[in-house]
Amino acid sequence: MRSETEGITVCDVCGFAQARTRYAPRTYGRGKELLVIENVPVVSCPSCDASYLTSQTLREIDRIKYERKTRAVTTSIEVASFST
Ligand SMILES: [Zn+2]
Repeated sequence: MRSETEGITVCDVCGFAQARTRYAPRTYGRGKELLVIENVPVVSCPSCDASYLTSQTLREIDRIKYERKTRAVTTSIEVASFST
């Protein structure tokens, strides 16, 4: 689990060198289609207030959604882990 880990990265929006990456769960869909992806890296910038996912992260999320039938662990809701 990396949920409490914070990393330092360069902000894609303003170029600030000390934007932070936080790992947070995100939910997609609703009802029976609800998918929770844990440990999604979210960049947040204290300089310009941006909070965004990188294009690499978005691609990975698309892949996880596509593969959810094999990746997801079915509990009361489906949960998959983000991994690179
Ligand atoms: Zn910024």
